[in-house]
Amino acid sequence: MGIRENLDTVKRRMEEACKSCQRETSEVKLIAVSKTKPLADLEEAYTYGCRDFGENKVQELVDKYEALPKDIRWHMIGHLQRNKVKYIVDKVFLIHSVDSLRLAQEIEKEAAKKNVTVNILVEVNVAGEESKFGSTVEEACILVSGIARLPHIRVKGLMTIAPYVTDAEENRRYFAKLKQIYVDIIHKNIDNVFMEELSMGMTGDYEVAITEGATCVRVGTGIFGERKYTVI
Ligand SMILES: *Cc1c(COP(=O)(O)O)cnc(C)c1O
Repeated sequence: MGIRENLDTVKRRMEEACKSCQRETSEVKLIAVSKTKPLADLEEAYTYGCRDFGENKVQELVDKYEALPKDIRWHMIGHLQRNKVKYIVDKVFLIHSVDSLRLAQEIEKEAAKKNVTVNILVEVNVAGEESKFGSTVEEACILVSGIARLPHIRVKGLMTIAPYVTDAEENRRYFAKLKQIYVDIIHKNIDNVFMEELSMGMTGDYEVAITEGATCVRVGTGIFGERKYTVI
C-alpha cells in the first residue's frame, strides 16, 4: 500500500470516527508523523495535500524544514532538550512536548531573542508510565499556569502519548482523562491560556482518541508504513 492509499484510509476512518460521535470532520486535524522517513515520502504526502508534519528530533526537523516548501506546519512531538530549543523556536508551528517550567523558560528566552511567539502544548503523562516524559496529572494545571506567565509563549492545549496496546479501547480512559484535565483548566480561566487543542491518538488508537475529543491526531505508521530504525 502506498502513501496515497494510506492517507485515504486514515482520512476515511477519521471521518467515520467523527460521525460516530457527532463531531464535524473539520474539528480534527491530521498530523503526518514523518520521523525517520526520507524527504521523498514527505514530498509525496505534500502532493496529496498534507501540510502538517510531525518530527521528534531537532536536527531532522531543521533539515526537512530547510529542504521542503515553506507552507508546511512543523510539529515538534518528541522530547525536547533545552540546549536545542534555539534551533527550532522560529521554525515550528507547535511544540507538543513541553513538560517542565525549565524547558518553557528556555523557549521563552529564545523566542524573546528572535521576537516570536511560540505555540505550545503541555505534555501530560496520563497513564503514569515511567518510561515516558510529561507532567503528572496532578501537576498539569500548575505547570500550565506557570508557563502562561511567559509572554512569548502561548499555551494552546494538552498532549499525551498513550501506552502501546493491542486493544485501543484500553486507552480510552487516558484520552478521557486528558479531556477532563483540559476542561478543568478551561474553567479556571487562566490569563494567556488558550485551550483549543487536544493532541492525542496515534496509528493504533486515533479513532478512540477522536471519540474522546482529540483535535489533532498524530499518525505515522498508518500513513508512511513501518519505520526502520538503523543502529549507528
Ligand atoms: C512516533 C510518534 C507518533 C506516531 O506513531 P505511529 O504509531 O507510527 O502512528 C505519534 N506521536 C508521537 C509523540 C510519536 O513519537
